Amino acid sequence: MNADYSNKGFVHSGLFFPFFIPNGLIYLATLIFIHSPLLKTWPTGIPRITPYLLLIAGFLVALLFNRSRVIYALTILAIIDRAIAYMSNAGLTSIPGVHAAYLAITFLLPLNVAALSLVKERGIFTPRGLWRASIIAIEVIATCIFYLHPNPTIIRYLEYSPLSTALFNRIPMPQLSILLFSIAALLLVFTYTRDPDAITSGFFWTLATYFTALLSPGDYRVFNLYTSSAMLILIISLVISSYKMAFHDELTGLPARRALNEELLKLTGRYTIAMADIDFFKKFNDRYGHAVGDQVLRMVASRMSRVAGVKAFRYGGEEFVLVLSGKGKKEALPILEYIRQSVEITPFVIRGPNRPKKKPKPGKARGKPRERVSVTISIGAAERDTSKHKNPRDVLRAADKALYAAKKAGRNRVSL
Ligand code: GH3
Ligand code: MG
Ligand code: MG
Repeated sequence: MNADYSNKGFVHSGLFFPFFIPNGLIYLATLIFIHSPLLKTWPTGIPRITPYLLLIAGFLVALLFNRSRVIYALTILAIIDRAIAYMSNAGLTSIPGVHAAYLAITFLLPLNVAALSLVKERGIFTPRGLWRASIIAIEVIATCIFYLHPNPTIIRYLEYSPLSTALFNRIPMPQLSILLFSIAALLLVFTYTRDPDAITSGFFWTLATYFTALLSPGDYRVFNLYTSSAMLILIISLVISSYKMAFHDELTGLPARRALNEELLKLTGRYTIAMADIDFFKKFNDRYGHAVGDQVLRMVASRMSRVAGVKAFRYGGEEFVLVLSGKGKKEALPILEYIRQSVEITPFVIRGPNRPKKKPKPGKARGKPRERVSVTISIGAAERDTSKHKNPRDVLRAADKALYAAKKAGRNRVSL
């Protein structure tokens, strides 16, 4: 009988850090810089061109990786930056047209970023891409018309601010816009928890940066710094996301074979390598279909990727490699047992194959609506030692052998 490892607190939160680092740090650094005496040392001539250098760099990188959403976001930021530069000489609230344009910008920006986070990549020079570009163009034209002919009724709607507190009264941004920014931010956080893509985190921090910038947009020198930071955040997110695409497996989100090869080259000292394989997966696929099989792979991967001190890789097919650096066999065993058990106890619910399409009439026998199945994995592990398994490749081979032994011994177990 195996010991119970099901509640040992091995789980770590892997989502938190990549959401804040580096994008949140760039945002914080920008805030600190702007509110510190260092701002005075910032030269006046050069920074005006930094957003445009970043825009060009961002365009090139985004084109290279075919990421149209980032291109649209960069374009929107550049347009707003230009508008603020143009209007900042006038003072933002004194001239009705300038005030109207400011309201339109704070209203449209969160809507656009939220829309960009929801749509899929569809290319730039495709009919869909051009359609999206034309929506942005229409918004720009509408804002320009609004600037030239500020309609008081529309202004009243945009300025709608039902709450009256000391805090809100000091902020020039209307409550409607603050609400839209908040909704867009929540949507981005939610999207990120479902699919932790760096670009989503980038959109969130870009929005946070521009929200802060638009709260007090009087000084263009400062606004221009915010623009540069927001663009930098987008470009870095784009690079991180594209790097992940190259090194990570698309189905499970785990790092893939190429990442494992690099990891193996870095390993030194004490470490244990484990190989895990789903039991009777061929039968499972044959019975429930490939799509359900894919869901199982995702579930198993998510069990593995949540565990502290373990780096999980998708080796290929339904095989995974777990690297536990700094750990010998003895320390690795409870962790591997925990992983094995957490897969076993995760219920997998399958819609019954004979489930009727229409709701059956009462009284008639129903098809079995759901089936709960349990998926199990077998794990083989080996530790580096100075005699037999000196280098990572040998240890991996030994882990594969141990896996074979686990399968032979009846599956759903860890063999050392
Ligand atoms: P064992 O317990 O001995 O490991 O039996 P098994 O059936 O799991 O082993 P085998 O290696 O014969 O079968 C692996 C199966 O995994 C074959 C293939 O149908 C399935 N498979 C591999 N990659 C994928 C994938 O990406 N998606 C799905 N759905 N199935 C996959
Ligand atoms: Mg296999
Ligand atoms: Mg298998």
